[in-house]
Amino acid sequence: MQEKNLQTIFQAQKAFFYSDATKSYGFRIKQLKKFKKVIKENGKSLCDSVYQDFQKPVEETYISEIAMIIRELNHSINNLKKWMRKKKVATNLTNFLGKSYLFPHPLGKNLIIGAWNFPYSTVFTPLIACIAAGNTAIIKPSEIAPHSSNAIKGLIKDNFSREYITVIEGGVEVSSSLLALPFDHVFFTGSTQVGKIVMEACAKHLSRVTLELGGKSPAIVDKDADIKKAAKKIVFGKGSNSGQNCIAPDYVYAHEKIQDSLLEALKDAYHQLYPSEKHIASIVNEKNFQRLNTILNQEKIYFQLPHKREDKFIPPTIIYPANWEKPAMKEEIFGPILPVLTFSRIDEVIKTINQREIPLALYYFGKMNWPSIEKGIQFGGGTVNDTLLHFANPNLPFGGVGSSGTGCYHGYSGFKTFSHFKSIFRKGKWPDFSFRYPPHDGKKMKWIRKLF
Ligand code: NAD
Repeated sequence: MQEKNLQTIFQAQKAFFYSDATKSYGFRIKQLKKFKKVIKENGKSLCDSVYQDFQKPVEETYISEIAMIIRELNHSINNLKKWMRKKKVATNLTNFLGKSYLFPHPLGKNLIIGAWNFPYSTVFTPLIACIAAGNTAIIKPSEIAPHSSNAIKGLIKDNFSREYITVIEGGVEVSSSLLALPFDHVFFTGSTQVGKIVMEACAKHLSRVTLELGGKSPAIVDKDADIKKAAKKIVFGKGSNSGQNCIAPDYVYAHEKIQDSLLEALKDAYHQLYPSEKHIASIVNEKNFQRLNTILNQEKIYFQLPHKREDKFIPPTIIYPANWEKPAMKEEIFGPILPVLTFSRIDEVIKTINQREIPLALYYFGKMNWPSIEKGIQFGGGTVNDTLLHFANPNLPFGGVGSSGTGCYHGYSGFKTFSHFKSIFRKGKWPDFSFRYPPHDGKKMKWIRKLF
């Protein structure tokens, strides 16, 4: 029954797309403006739903999700006309007296699968790009944040027609049924493990795919860094969403000359930024709570904030000295645990990181070794002397490489992700060189050889 329903919605979206209704500038801009109004009107209740799911402070949800979505909408509204224009490109000599251009065309029918940790951003930010590029969409939010998923469903149902944008709620089974449909593009945010399943499903229909995945993102603190500032920014980056953030600094690599002062500064920063537990989100479910406690039980706890709460709450914790052979360094932590490793030479750091899965983000504090790191380590994107902020600039495409993802979005890069740029050569009336037509006898070939 479910499959039949999904087929019906899919076919309705297909018909709507081929009616050309979604393609004009007028339609797209109207939907983006409407979406902005709806997000602004519902901002508070959206934040309340996340609070119900994992006690994330409503102010934090506003800053990290609602404000980011409004920023993305403003950027798209302001630039849409420019993005939709045909882009002239140079014409080569042999095609001369013709015009060459790229025509951005929507991909068509899209599936957007979201993660629970930023339940709105992981579906609404790609949706903004999807609308801007003139597509239809089915959204599958994460079942792990059920109140937020339900809020997404209500918001879309009340404001967009089913054949244009629809939300289908559910877990793995629903996700798998959706992935069996021949979408033109699948935009997935989630774990690397599930990303592989999604890519395999897309291969069956040769659907285009964007994978926004995770990984272990390092924060490297060099001996010439401003230690106090570095500590505050690392704690800010790790504290966001209680570390349940794909671009959170997963661990710290501290130069041996500054490691002691950094550890002290990290403790101070934790006390300063999180004076009580009310500023800290809980762990989303029992499974992750147990997973994180298992890590903690096997590691040396160097520092932990004294806060307590009855629900699935883990106070921010520093593990030191951390070690690549221990559990905290074996997988993405995705929680409020910060392992600190020490290094003496930057080439060791580069070699060690390059031997492992490619990080989604990288943070560097200092100056002297940045050129070697920028050139020497593969990673999705990063911020120097701060954390998370590269994510907030819509002019910087956001995405990973290899195990941390494929493809990107935000701003124009999102528009490009949901568009196909048709390459068009428009021939002028003349000249029409006869040497290109067969039969290619000796004289014509002489010309051709001369030309190339
Ligand atoms: P997840 O991979 O468990 O789930 C993501 C989505 O996939 C959910 O909607 C879920 O229902 C669906 N899903 C789960 N198993 C599936 C299966 N077998 N087949 C089809 N669909 C399936 O991830 P999560 O726990 O929601 O999120 C945490 C992960 O997401 C972390 O690794 C984090 O780094 C990553 N993440 C990445 C970004 C990014 O922008 N790169 C953003 C947020 C989260």
